[in-house]
Amino acid sequence: MSKIASVTPISVAYPESNDAGNTRYLTLCRIETTDGVVGWGECIPMSGSGFPEACRATEALITGLADLVVGQDPVRNGEIVSTILKRTWWYGPEGIAAFALSAIDIALWDLKGKVLGIPLVDLLGGPVIKRIPAVAATHATLSDIQAEADRHGEMVRAGFKGVKVGLSERSGDLGNNVDRDIAFVKSLRDAVGPDADIMIDRGQSLRWDVSEAIRRIRGFEEYGLRWIEEPLEPHDITGFRRLKATVDTLIATGEREWNTRAYQRLLDEDIVDIVGCDPGRSNGITGFVELVRLAEQRSVWFNAHSWSSAINTAASLAVTAISKNALVFELKPDENPMQHELVDEPFEQHDGWVTIPTTKPGLGIDVNESVVKKYQI
Ligand SMILES: [Mg+2]
Repeated sequence: MSKIASVTPISVAYPESNDAGNTRYLTLCRIETTDGVVGWGECIPMSGSGFPEACRATEALITGLADLVVGQDPVRNGEIVSTILKRTWWYGPEGIAAFALSAIDIALWDLKGKVLGIPLVDLLGGPVIKRIPAVAATHATLSDIQAEADRHGEMVRAGFKGVKVGLSERSGDLGNNVDRDIAFVKSLRDAVGPDADIMIDRGQSLRWDVSEAIRRIRGFEEYGLRWIEEPLEPHDITGFRRLKATVDTLIATGEREWNTRAYQRLLDEDIVDIVGCDPGRSNGITGFVELVRLAEQRSVWFNAHSWSSAINTAASLAVTAISKNALVFELKPDENPMQHELVDEPFEQHDGWVTIPTTKPGLGIDVNESVVKKYQI
């Protein structure tokens, strides 16, 4: 019988064309069986353009936890993950331990699917949707708001059904001035047309107080805002409560949570309409599936925070497909190495839709190992 033979963490660095060419870092996890079957996982121990030291720490943990994985039956992934959770009780269940577990968990699901010859979505019960609207998830980077609006208009003309624009300290003056931000959303509406979704995501480097957030949201609402994302820091539950009582716009938050227990606490607060989740952070595919079921129980939407490699996209898309509680699926609009070089068949929108892959086993992607080596750090 096939056993798991090796667990290898590999960190990569690459220029992200969707983030003004800034370097982004990821830690991948390669798990191979004694028969030579390979599963791939990924975690994102970074945000913005930094944190290579977090990648190194994650590598060390994956290497240290490998003893709990090697020699095990590759189809018993739940048992392996449970053993890791027990082992990391003191230094987990958040932080670097959650990144390490996430990468291992995704790789184990991919491996299981490949060993059994079953697509991930079918391992999870099968898809309840065949396709989902695609929106372009971007970072605003231009200082000219008309040029930035026009850039997003082109994405909609290329097929995307909407745009989610992330604001940050690198986005010209966007996010720093309420009137200018509202003027941007007005230009954006003109540029993308009446039917496209517009979502605005406050970057973590910006700080809005509650009244500022309310003024922005009310201004944005004039031009049709599908949702506002993390308008306040995630821990500001009191602020979110005031916001929720004041505006009609859907409020998204959650992508910075680590696990199901944290999601339960967040949803108990009744302040979120769209709960974000990244399998590369929140205990992998196992954690994401738990969040999806929780979102269904609480009648809220969920949204994959999938702004990383094709491994993360494949995992996010499969989990998104097991529920009707997702509104859209985010893709990076510009070609980049970890989406377009890493796999031969990159995830793309066609006529504004992303199709759920249901034919190939596991994650349904073939990772090009020479590309992994090319960007390895
Ligand atoms: Mg976000």
